[in-house]
Amino acid sequence: QAKKTAKSSEGASYDIALHNTEKGVVTRFPPEPSGYLHIGHAKAALLNDYFAHEKYQGTLICRFDDTNPSKEKEEFQDAIVEDLALMGIRPDKTSYTSDYFEELYQYCLEMIRMGKAYADDTEQETMKHQRWNGLPSERRDASVEDNLAHFEEMKQGTEEGVRWCIRAKISVDNPNKAMRDPVIYRCNPLSHHRTGNKWKMYPIYDFCCPIVDSLEGVTHALRTIEYRDRNPQYDWMLEALNLRKVQIWDFARMNFIRTFLSKRKLTKLVDEGRVWGWDDPRFPTIRGIRRRGMTIDALREFILKQGPSRNIVNLDWTLFWATNKKYIDPVAPRHTAISKDHAVPATVKGARLAPYTEDKPKHIKNLDLGIKKVAYSDTILIEQSDAQTFQQDEEITLMNWGNAYVRKISHSLNPLTRSTVTSLELELHLQGDFKATKQKITWLSTKGQEPIPVELVDFDYLITKDIIEKDDEIDECLNPHTEFRTEALADCNVADLKVDDIIQFERKGYFRVDRAFKHGEPAVLFNIPTGRATK
Ligand code: ATP
Ligand code: MG
Ligand code: MG
Repeated sequence: QAKKTAKSSEGASYDIALHNTEKGVVTRFPPEPSGYLHIGHAKAALLNDYFAHEKYQGTLICRFDDTNPSKEKEEFQDAIVEDLALMGIRPDKTSYTSDYFEELYQYCLEMIRMGKAYADDTEQETMKHQRWNGLPSERRDASVEDNLAHFEEMKQGTEEGVRWCIRAKISVDNPNKAMRDPVIYRCNPLSHHRTGNKWKMYPIYDFCCPIVDSLEGVTHALRTIEYRDRNPQYDWMLEALNLRKVQIWDFARMNFIRTFLSKRKLTKLVDEGRVWGWDDPRFPTIRGIRRRGMTIDALREFILKQGPSRNIVNLDWTLFWATNKKYIDPVAPRHTAISKDHAVPATVKGARLAPYTEDKPKHIKNLDLGIKKVAYSDTILIEQSDAQTFQQDEEITLMNWGNAYVRKISHSLNPLTRSTVTSLELELHLQGDFKATKQKITWLSTKGQEPIPVELVDFDYLITKDIIEKDDEIDECLNPHTEFRTEALADCNVADLKVDDIIQFERKGYFRVDRAFKHGEPAVLFNIPTGRATK
């Protein structure tokens, strides 16, 4: 359903294509189950889905890249499955790199036997230094027998074995440093969430990705641009093992200003209790932005429009939220809320003596949304910020009611707060022309309905720095104050709203219901950015 809307919505045609698609298209989304999906992952997932399911009649594989037991958990895996479904992405097949551990082991054996890989126990810092300076490892020319023996020790996870790793024998001094004998197998004593203690060593991504892509029939491997240096290495692995070639299609990594898109950093914020959890509305996770009020249709459109761009840019959230507004504005029911601390009581002369209610459309331009009750009486509340602008005898418009004259404005007697309006007297003038008034104001009757207490929450960026560098640490740029709560009173219809409903409080903005109203507990609504302000 999400797909259809994105396709048919105005301006949402994405001109992205793959080459060599005659024999079919198989793509894969390869998340590592080491965190919840964030908006960067959404780009990778949506592009793969777009090619497999929208542009071509192909196949989408979701492959969990679960080769590092130090970081991976079942919880993350389950969350990824759910979040993909939430985005309307249905993989035709789900697989795990760990399903291929035996095959990968055999392929590594084969590489060693062919003299295309060797065991190395060079100390880490030295290895780094040698790779950087184009120097060979002392172990580079060891015999196949020795290499096999060390690989076996690694497999057993012996004290001797864990000191070793396996490296592909590609080049010592290739100008592309990714080609300088990359590590392809390494020991890890931790238990794996799927294979338990069966394996003591694990293949490195650079080794398993091309192999499993080839084995699973992937035709087009989508990778972010920063892997470009590693593309020749990807091809080398397949050639060395005489496996079917796979085409690589590069796309730009997506970054946003004032946003961490790194699972390591997001995990840290969750673990240290700096946010409410992975679904914190300030978080760039799929759950976070949804909780803030992003719709999946808008997410799809926004991301697929970025599709073919290969520039790594720091996107502004403004356009993202503006896209969302386009989707929510036509379907968000209109309601009224008046800030509690700043409400000014007003009496309305000319109103009927007995309070009454009338049915009004929830959205004037979308009658399908149904009707709401508007209560009318001679006692209403008005925002202080509106009241302060009124002139004596000015004609104003009460939205959903009609015009009225401002007949009396009472100010605070305290000299320090003299501009504060303490009460108003209005006089209805229903035959007045609303086009002739400057002010169309929201108001709430305190009779004829029970105003519903609500808590309106606005958020700021978690981070104070626009552009995050790779090694910026969180603590140095965390924003200390990011949550702003206002208490307000809303019209009686708000009592019926459910969690996840998206509405507009007229003249206040769009909101998503995070907690529904219960007697004795206010409803909690999150302000949805619209892309207008900086937030
Ligand atoms: P992180 O840095 O957050 O840990 P990752 O790249 O290590 O991300 P993976 O689970 O390995 O996380 O990524 C799954 C897919 O999502 C990969 O294809 C990866 O290239 C892609 N991806 C990750 N971050 C972004 C991003 N910011 N923009 C576009 N694609 C991304
Ligand atoms: Mg990764
Ligand atoms: Mg990463």
